[in-house]
Amino acid sequence: FGQLQATDPEIAAVVLGELDRLRGGLQLIASENLTSPAVLAALGSTLTNKYAEGYPGRRYYGGCAEVDRAEQIGMARARELFGAEHANLQPHSGASANLAAYAALVQPGDTVLAMDLPHGGHLTHGSRVNFSGKWFKTIGYRVHEETELIDYDEVRDLALVHQPKMIICGATAYPRLIDFARFRQIADEVGAYLMVDAAHFIGLVAGRAIPSPVPYADVVCATTHKVLRGPRGGMILCRESLAQRIDKAVFPFTQGGPLMHAVAAKAVALREAAMPEFQAYAAQVVRNARALTAGLVAEGMRPVSGGTDTHLALIDLRGIDVTGQEAEERCDAAMITLNKNAIPYDPRPPLTASGIRVGTPSVTTQGMREGEMHRIAALIGRAVRTDPTAPGGTDALAAIAGDVADLVAAFPAYPR
Ligand code: PLP
Repeated sequence: FGQLQATDPEIAAVVLGELDRLRGGLQLIASENLTSPAVLAALGSTLTNKYAEGYPGRRYYGGCAEVDRAEQIGMARARELFGAEHANLQPHSGASANLAAYAALVQPGDTVLAMDLPHGGHLTHGSRVNFSGKWFKTIGYRVHEETELIDYDEVRDLALVHQPKMIICGATAYPRLIDFARFRQIADEVGAYLMVDAAHFIGLVAGRAIPSPVPYADVVCATTHKVLRGPRGGMILCRESLAQRIDKAVFPFTQGGPLMHAVAAKAVALREAAMPEFQAYAAQVVRNARALTAGLVAEGMRPVSGGTDTHLALIDLRGIDVTGQEAEERCDAAMITLNKNAIPYDPRPPLTASGIRVGTPSVTTQGMREGEMHRIAALIGRAVRTDPTAPGGTDALAAIAGDVADLVAAFPAYPR
């Protein structure tokens, strides 16, 4: 780090500033985590220098013996951890993994059935501003208006009517377990591929805290940087029969040279995730999400679908008459980082939104447990009700930030 400071003090200051931000506040973004020093060491290594187009043993460049070993070790760890026949660790991100899955399984113009964005789906599940919505005929399924759970009957009806070539399940803002067997049944009924986008919850699967989609899916796409706690990146698991198509879809169809430092860091994270400690971690992530949700209920907020089975909760703020945008801004001022989020059937536009999404991967990595979740819920309750434009509002938010600092001091992110 001394060299970075000497060469580029401006960027060194950003790195230190971000470290201070992580240490000084509460990180409740459901898709974020705090990677280990071992993962960071692999990411910051000279493996970033290496061009390695192709796959281990079949590269288009010389000098790949070392990076071949890293990729082979990582692939073996992924296969072992998830019981998958094949693993590809090269996708640069979750969206890149999804693009490759589309490229492997469907043709432009084909019909794809996936979760509607306002109901928890991801941009790559058919948004018109994304390749998925532009190049494919995407049909969206929703959650039931009353239960706020995936409406499997509607999924089946839409599948029967539209005869999709691929069905996607897995979401960005869905707090409940997904019935993979039901999706498999529906996919089989219409002869569609089933792609599970496990970006959010693959870490819970690794830690055995929730059921695995691997036995049911043709292809599982994932990110490695969320609950899994690895470097920012993507990963694809699939059956052997699809391995070649998936590999070709990643390289050379959608990507060039893999980021070998990231591939090595993924291997490190997969080793960490195979440890018994990670199972304890994943179970605690879910217990913490439940405790945080219960605490927010006590603060007068409503969890969409009544609760959570995973690492995240979606919270409807209409009962306390605060918008998602206001809540995000107020929490930010109190050093609590979370995001506004549309709730199903949201009457407000997405940039205002009626809800927030909260997740427990980062605070659980810091060692916090149920007791701290109740304290966090109370801090969120105070923050979202504090109008910064009212007299004394900014002071009140600063006071909450002080209480946040006291809480996190006992659970330091990246201890000094
Ligand atoms: N799929 C789902 C369900 C996601 O939630 C996300 C990101 O949050 C992605 C894909 C995309 O991942 P990335 O941001 O790494 O491209």
